[in-house]
Amino acid sequence: MRVSIIATGSDGNCIHLQSETTGILIDAGKWKRDLEKRLLANNINAATDIQGIFVTHAHGDHIKGLTLANKYRIPVWATDGEWKGISGVDEELRRVLETTWSKYERIEIGDDLHVYPFKVHHDAYEPVGYVVEDGWGNNACVVFDTGQIDDEMLEMMEGSNVYIVEANHDVEMLQNGPYDDYLKDRISDPHRGHLSNDQTAAALQKLVKGRGERIYLTHLSSNNNTPELASHAVRMALFEKGLINKRDYFLEVV
Ligand SMILES: [Zn+2]
Ligand SMILES: [Zn+2]
Repeated sequence: MRVSIIATGSDGNCIHLQSETTGILIDAGKWKRDLEKRLLANNINAATDIQGIFVTHAHGDHIKGLTLANKYRIPVWATDGEWKGISGVDEELRRVLETTWSKYERIEIGDDLHVYPFKVHHDAYEPVGYVVEDGWGNNACVVFDTGQIDDEMLEMMEGSNVYIVEANHDVEMLQNGPYDDYLKDRISDPHRGHLSNDQTAAALQKLVKGRGERIYLTHLSSNNNTPELASHAVRMALFEKGLINKRDYFLEVV
């Protein structure tokens, strides 16, 4: 599965995943024009290489370029709850992620992609993460904004060979940083906040087996994190398991 990080960070997130025959976007969090430029720069043709857009949640940094869907007639999937916060997508392109017994149903897209949404914990109506499976046994999981990675999430994410996960803040930088107490509390809240480097590292320590997994740390806060701190936290956690970067797994901070 080819992974292209089209944008990430507090001002916009967008990932393109491409199997042999099918491409999708997870989120479209840059304005349409900007998104089109970035897709082109990654050799992705918006008219032919995107068969669906999957939304994690309706915050601006994840949805502000969703009008791309109207222009190229791409269906957009989001949970019922998150559609409440999304406007500007043509009615006939809207798809709802359905649940059965409170579990999300699998979406089949193109010839060979299966998408499995799962619940995450964030300051939104009904936010989700995704596992995307191609026909060749490759799984990529995408977990953006969430205050924690719980056991149900770990179960969904387990066995992936691509982990695209938020590493939002360094706990110490957040505590000593410029934000007021309200915002600090919100960001650290396990039910509506964001993942710290330590939380992301602890989850990856459980998930990564050293089978050459590719790890992308994303959505770093520009005020409360640095790529070095995020990378260090994850490398140390995996080193405790005897795993070494570029030998047992491949880490990128984006
Ligand atoms: Zn958010
Ligand atoms: Zn976000």
